[in-house]
Amino acid sequence: MIMLLLNLIIQPIVFAKDSLSAKWLGVAGVAITDGKDTLIFDPVPTKPSLSHWLFGTELKSDVVRVSTMLRKAEIERVSGVFMSHTHFDHAVDGAEVALMMRAPIYGGVSVKRITEAYSPAPKYIELTPEKPVQIGKFKITPIRRGHAPIASLFHFLPGEIAPGFDFKFYQYREGETWNYFIEHLLGNILFDQGGRFHPANKKYSGRVDTYFAGIANRRSVEDWVDNSILVVKAKRVVPIHFDVFFLKSEWLEKQWLPGAGLDKLERMLKEKSPTTKWVTPVLYQKINLNE
Ligand SMILES: [Zn+2]
Repeated sequence: MIMLLLNLIIQPIVFAKDSLSAKWLGVAGVAITDGKDTLIFDPVPTKPSLSHWLFGTELKSDVVRVSTMLRKAEIERVSGVFMSHTHFDHAVDGAEVALMMRAPIYGGVSVKRITEAYSPAPKYIELTPEKPVQIGKFKITPIRRGHAPIASLFHFLPGEIAPGFDFKFYQYREGETWNYFIEHLLGNILFDQGGRFHPANKKYSGRVDTYFAGIANRRSVEDWVDNSILVVKAKRVVPIHFDVFFLKSEWLEKQWLPGAGLDKLERMLKEKSPTTKWVTPVLYQKINLNE
C-alpha cells in the first residue's frame, strides 16, 4: 500500500520531466523535439539521379521516402517545418513533409514559390529576419546569412526561385538563406547548415548549448574549427550536411560516410577545445540535448 502511494506520488514527477532531443534525418535534415512540439529543418530523403543533373528533369518529393523517414525517425507530429534555403538538397521534401504532417512551412519567397506548385498547398508562413517565431516552448529566431560558394569557386544557382516553379531540377535556386537560433528552457540550439562562419552567429556566442554545424563547402578543417565552431562556443557540436549522394539515406544507418572528413574535424576540435562535446549523428538515432 505504501509502495502504491509512493508510486502515485512519484509517477507524475517522472512523467512531467521534460526532455529536449534531436534526430538527424540525413544531409542537413534535423528534427528537434521537447516531447510536445517537434520542429523539422531541411528534411531531404529524396535524391536526384544522374539524369536530373544531365537533363534538368523534374525532381519531386518521393512520398514513399518521406513516409519512410518519418516512420523510421518515429515522428508522429510536427509543429513547423523550417527551410534553410531552397537548393534541392535542402528543400525538395519540405512542402511534402508539411502537407503530410499538417504543419506550416517557414521560409522566404522561394519557399513560397515551391509551396504554390502543390495542390493542395501546405500552409506557408513568411519569415522576417531576426523576428522570432514562438512554437510551444521554442522561440525560433531566423537569421539571414549568405550561402557559401561551392569549393570556394562559384555560387550554385544563385538568386530566388522564379514564379511559375514546376519542379525542374535547375529551378531549385538558392533562395533566401537562413540560420536558426532556437531558444528553449532546456537548452539553446543554433542550426547553421552553412559550413563557413557567418558574422551574425557571433551575437549568439556563449549562448548556444548545441550547434548543428554544416561541414559542406568549408574552407578548411582549421577554418571550420577556428572561425565557425570556437567562435560560437557551444557546449555540444553536431556536424551536419554530409551525404551518400545518389544512394538512399538508409545507407547512412550503416554509418558509411564517404569523404565527409568527420574524423579530422573531430580530432582538431578535441585538440583545440577538449571540453566541447562532439556528437557524430547517426541516421534517425536520438541525440539528447539536455544532459
Ligand atoms: Zn545550398
